[in-house]
Amino acid sequence: MLSLYVHIPFCRKRCSYCDFYLVANSARMEDFFVALRRETAARASLLKGRTIGAIHFGGGTPSMAPPALLSDWLEQVASLTSFAPDIEIALEANPEDLQGNAAGELHGVGINRLSLGVQSFNRAKLASLGRVHSPENAMTATHKALGLFDSVSLDLICGVPSEDREAWQGDLDKAIALEVQHVSVYMLSLEPRTLLSRDVAAGRVRVPDEGAQADFYMQALKELKASGYAHYEVSNFAMPGHHSRYNLASWKREPYIGYGPSAHSFIQTEEGELRTANEASLSRWLSAPQSAEGFREILGERERFEEEVFLSLRINSGLSIEFLRKGNTLPIEMMNALGKMEAQGWIRHENGALYLTDEGFLFADHIAAELIP
Ligand code: SF4
Repeated sequence: MLSLYVHIPFCRKRCSYCDFYLVANSARMEDFFVALRRETAARASLLKGRTIGAIHFGGGTPSMAPPALLSDWLEQVASLTSFAPDIEIALEANPEDLQGNAAGELHGVGINRLSLGVQSFNRAKLASLGRVHSPENAMTATHKALGLFDSVSLDLICGVPSEDREAWQGDLDKAIALEVQHVSVYMLSLEPRTLLSRDVAAGRVRVPDEGAQADFYMQALKELKASGYAHYEVSNFAMPGHHSRYNLASWKREPYIGYGPSAHSFIQTEEGELRTANEASLSRWLSAPQSAEGFREILGERERFEEEVFLSLRINSGLSIEFLRKGNTLPIEMMNALGKMEAQGWIRHENGALYLTDEGFLFADHIAAELIP
């Protein structure tokens, strides 16, 4: 099964914490879809004879795209390949875009999963993140989405300036009370070159420290799990059957093709597993979308090993000790690192595999790094 990703790089304005590749206006939206169709046609051979299990429109703010243009592209893809009968077609939407019948129109073109960039229902939090929408927009958009789509996911952020335990609990309570099928929880990270990181560096704004961030994360785990959500990836929680199929496929190292500026692809070729990325430049991609590749790497044994360790820990599918041993005994440094992490309560050992504990999820990348020679 193959997944497709489309990076729609337009937003109304840049939020204070965001460092994604995007352009803060949508003047070239129509040109974008012309180029998207050209890139899709140029790479049509990758689709031939395949079945598409998931399509994900990410960004940027894909809900700014006119539904008719999304529909034209979906038709083009359908003419080149076949869709699984239960295909997931997901779109990332911002609450301010779901006014009037906008949600209905997205549903009408075949979108069946909506991922809402709510981030918070708290006015002060939204203002400190530089978000365009209000708490009322977030509520209305979620209710509308729940009435239309098979799966609705909310993104929430914790650890924003001045946030405390009560403010975070308020967001968790609202998301749970809405009975959305999926929640993604992100800890605010200060990315270099963002407005927020400059304000923090200059002492104009203070953000909760690492200890407080960790408490927020553990609070989310406890509340969401107690409400029936399965914790299936570091940041992701789903009701049964509502995990993100596109994300899970990419974390399981299944193939996907990405279209648009900065989009990544992962495919199997005769030379081996290939990762590519388009250049992060809208203007260059618009002028030559058929040859926008800026990065290409055939994975060697070491890269495959590293990915397997990082990804299987993140989705907690169990990292086999046999896989780590690679036919040898475990190196003494790795044995020591494992013993230490088990004593700290970060990992547990079960039936020949390693799993992260709730606390271990906080250190998933660090733990993976300890296991890579
Ligand atoms: S809406 Fe999302 S992608 Fe756009 S600037 Fe804000 S955080 Fe970044």
